[in-house]
Amino acid sequence: MDLTPDSEEIDRINLKSLLKHAHIGVVIHRLDTSIVYANPTALKLLDMSYNQVIGRDAYDPSWYFIDEYQQKIPIDAYPVKQVLNTGMPLINEMIGQYSPTTREVNWFLVNAYPEVGEEFGDEGFVVVTFNEISARRHLFSYRDVIENTRDVVIVTDAEGIEAPFGPQIVFVNRAFEELTGFSSAEAIGETPRILQGHGTDAACRQRIREALQAHQPIRETILNYSKSGKPYWLDMDIFPLRNQFGKVTHFAAIERDVTDQTYYADQLSKRNEDLRHLKQSLEKLVSDKTKELRDANYTLQRLALYDDLTGIPNRRCFLDQFKKQCAMADRYEKLVAIGMIDLDHFKKINDQYGHDAGDAVLKETAQYFRNFFRAEDSFGRMGGEEFAFAVLVGDAEAAESMCRRLVSRFAELPVTVDGQDISVTMSAGVYVAPSPTQEISIDDALRKADTALYEAKKSGRNQAVRWQK
Ligand code: GH3
Ligand code: MG
Ligand code: MG
Repeated sequence: MDLTPDSEEIDRINLKSLLKHAHIGVVIHRLDTSIVYANPTALKLLDMSYNQVIGRDAYDPSWYFIDEYQQKIPIDAYPVKQVLNTGMPLINEMIGQYSPTTREVNWFLVNAYPEVGEEFGDEGFVVVTFNEISARRHLFSYRDVIENTRDVVIVTDAEGIEAPFGPQIVFVNRAFEELTGFSSAEAIGETPRILQGHGTDAACRQRIREALQAHQPIRETILNYSKSGKPYWLDMDIFPLRNQFGKVTHFAAIERDVTDQTYYADQLSKRNEDLRHLKQSLEKLVSDKTKELRDANYTLQRLALYDDLTGIPNRRCFLDQFKKQCAMADRYEKLVAIGMIDLDHFKKINDQYGHDAGDAVLKETAQYFRNFFRAEDSFGRMGGEEFAFAVLVGDAEAAESMCRRLVSRFAELPVTVDGQDISVTMSAGVYVAPSPTQEISIDDALRKADTALYEAKKSGRNQAVRWQK
């Protein structure tokens, strides 16, 4: 039954012109399936020239059609053959044209009908029309691959590679969330530097920064920290992503947690000479590969390097980092500033609110330091309510003003104990070693910072004083 009413005007329309302008692919086959006509849209959709198409038949081995289940369609099930076999029109069949070279599929919605009848005699035609129903649809979802891999995938933009901000995270996969403890929502907008910490090798970070600036791929093994402060080793592969104009717009990093492999070999020997002996005896046991041993060793390292209560580096770890900074100061021609910090009237807090409240204040203080200092600075708990820091500065004034900022911002920080806000302040003394090349005595530097701290206490507390001759 013909549903469209006839109109006289339709007879006057130039059929060829109609086909030429139609936004639907039209291919006309003879009954032997050879193609006698294809309109421009058909050629475009099939990505072929007129000469390539004309004369081809269904038996041409270069056709590769698949059905919606991704199965190759046999010749007898091609639309033109179906129409020839059944004599019936074919309506809305989804067919994909697969390209073995690009491995992409163009999906078409195909209709076909027979043009046979008396007026054609033995001749006759099968008209196939089709339109593209999706832009090149992939055979599978790349996103699924990325979301389900156990490797961490991070994509950042390509801005802000220069310190201090770092490029912004625009995508992380599930493995990232599991390893780092940061949710995707928390991570996006931040920089990967939130994952770096005291143990992250500065030289390695510099190499990464240089590679990114040069838009070069780079592979490094680096120490990162989870949201809860747990360190882990990553084997990371970073490479630039370009847009269609060739401009680098993003970086992708594929990262694998290699803590188990790297842990015993490297970190202990780098960090602590004492632990080296312990490590050697532990390594013998570790060869048994028992999980208990791995946990035990991890705990030992934390105890040796990090303060139990606050989780920040302990005195020994801090002094170790300070020594490294002295070496760096020389290389970067900067001055080393070392500071001593002591909470004011801390005894009163203990007396008034109890020892546990005092502990909570110490933890908040440590968190404040984590936020205040940059990844390249060092700080630690020296004992009790005393802390120390070491930073590289251009000159003594810069150290002094940084130290004042440290003290004044802390005083503004709301500290809550037992549900009530209490005021906690700190005093600080800072000593700036006069020349980058001069050998610095740690004991001497600490003593001078301590003397300045004592001055700050004497002058009324809640202030910073720089040691001067
Ligand atoms: P000042 O301004 O002169 O520094 O006064 P202060 O009260 O802070 O000085 P003092 O050194 O006399 O007191 C330090 C107190 O810190 C004494 C000690 O009980 C307390 N303290 C030391 N370590 C801890 C700790 O780990 N937890 C708690 N809650 N208190 C601690
Ligand atoms: Mg004290
Ligand atoms: Mg004190």
